[in-house]
Formats: sequence, C-alpha cells, structure tokens
Amino acid sequence: MSNYSMKRVDLHAGRVELHDLLQLTGCEVSCNTLPQGASVPFVHHHTNNEELYIVLDGAGTLFIDGEELPLAAGDCFRIAPAGARCIRAAEDSALHFLCVQTRAGSLEGYTMSDGVIDEKGDKPSWLR
Ligand code: ZN
Repeated sequence: MSNYSMKRVDLHAGRVELHDLLQLTGCEVSCNTLPQGASVPFVHHHTNNEELYIVLDGAGTLFIDGEELPLAAGDCFRIAPAGARCIRAAEDSALHFLCVQTRAGSLEGYTMSDGVIDEKGDKPSWLR
C-alpha cells in the first residue's frame, strides 16, 4: 500500500470533503465556498470533534454561541465540539474557507515532537 494519496480538487466548487477522497484517518477536511449572500442552512455542533476554520478569501459572518463575528481572509478559529455555529457569506462577497475537523484532545505530538528527519534513504533531486 502506498504511503500517500493525492487528488486535485476544485477549490471553488461549493464544498469538497477530503476524508473519503484521500482516505484520511485522523481528520476530515472540507474546502468550502459560500456564494455571496449564502449561508450554511443550519446551526450545528459536534459530539466529539473540534473544528479549525481558516478563511482564505472573501468576507462573511460567524455565528457562535449567540455571538455574530465578522470574518475576513486570514481569520483562523477553533470551535470546541459544543459550540453552536453557523457561517454565512457577506451580501457582497463570496466566502472561501477550509474546515479541519478532528477529535478534540487527540493530538499527542506535532511538528518536531512527532516529525523525524530522515538522514538516510532517497532524497529529492533538489536536496542532493
Ligand atoms: Zn461541523
């Protein structure tokens, strides 16, 4: 079995979920575009998963636990499982964002506490 899976997706399609496309085992990632004036049509929370949202482009509003916060490119926010949330695009702008969903409290190591630099073996042509 290969150590990787790869797909090219249309980042401006309405919503693309990567879990099944890439056989992800530790998270779900969705690439989302809300057209101007559009909203996710429901408020939701999660049972076990926290969500990281990364606003790539556009403008909109985040509803979270009764608050309404403006969104702009570069905004990154985590929502705990119990947070009641909804997102909409601004009346005059589409909203492009990524959402990473993962089990709250599951991360044990990251970056250099989990990554291991491979000193031996194949290297890419640009590191030879
Ligand atoms: Zn969610």
